[in-house]
Amino acid sequence: MLFSGVKNMTSILEIENLFKTYPVSGGFFGGSKLKVHAVNGVSLQVAKGETLGIVGESGCGKTTLGLLFLRLLEPDSGKILFEGKDVTHLSQRSLRPVRSRMQMVFQDPYASLNPRMRAGEIIEEPLIIHKRGSAKQRQNEVMELLDLVGLKESDVDKYPHEFSGGQRQRIGIARAIALKPDLIIADEPVSALDVSIQGEIINLLKSLQQKFNLTYIFISHDLKVVSQISDRIAVMYLGKIVETFPATELNHVKHPYTQALLSAVPIPDPTLQRKRKPLEGDVPSQVKIPSGCSFHPRCPYREEICYTVEPPLEQKGSPDHIASCHFTNKVPKEIPI
Ligand code: SF4
Repeated sequence: MLFSGVKNMTSILEIENLFKTYPVSGGFFGGSKLKVHAVNGVSLQVAKGETLGIVGESGCGKTTLGLLFLRLLEPDSGKILFEGKDVTHLSQRSLRPVRSRMQMVFQDPYASLNPRMRAGEIIEEPLIIHKRGSAKQRQNEVMELLDLVGLKESDVDKYPHEFSGGQRQRIGIARAIALKPDLIIADEPVSALDVSIQGEIINLLKSLQQKFNLTYIFISHDLKVVSQISDRIAVMYLGKIVETFPATELNHVKHPYTQALLSAVPIPDPTLQRKRKPLEGDVPSQVKIPSGCSFHPRCPYREEICYTVEPPLEQKGSPDHIASCHFTNKVPKEIPI
């Protein structure tokens, strides 16, 4: 099996051929046999200490994939391995110690924090759930965490509504690192924030990564944001990985969909902007995925074979660069960024 990942690395997380569907709710007379194909056969490896960015338009399955990694959703089939151990079918009880080593930072700091809890209680809660330390030790830990994420000790008794959006995300991050995890899955962690604050949160995540040797999976719809933090980038379209590449190869992407995502990133030079091919049309329904290459209805380079034959993920260029497209030779060698 070809993994959408780098070879010869110590992986912390590995997923093999993961599938997840949801039933479409039935009409007036009951159930429907139709299914939403949210994740459609994804294999990925994540190396210890790296940041893997997962990017795609809304509805491409990237959030579902993030929840599957943590087993907050159950896959229909496939395997999830954490440090080589198969955790796909572990009971919730056996999963507990693994869970404490994998944490999540959520998309919306406005919605993900309990409005009735003070900042200190929010950060302390996972320590209580996992029975870590005495009350005094936990209190000290909370103060250290507040400092680590750039908040003040006096913030400990404030409620979420008393903070700005960026400060709320700092609380979410403090909570996520409270158990000293090895892996953090951050789902659109900056997309609800002003551009000026986005950079601050990304810098905070980078400095925490260095300090604690964290591994990140950073999920976003925004290729520019993803490229600011990632070592490798995986591009998802309609539940599949269509390209994976080192972030240093951002302007040498091979798949027309990645090219289109890149073209959507604004640049100040209008001459370069005109050379780009923006994405046309909407994402097709995940209930009826197009045949052959699922990107063919929107692809400017499609040929007859694309309607019927699904392109395999293959190495294109450097050993860590893989993409699934019959005609990567048609994509410009260098995309202006
Ligand atoms: Fe476009 Fe064909 Fe490549 Fe799919 S396989 S991305 S339709 S050129």
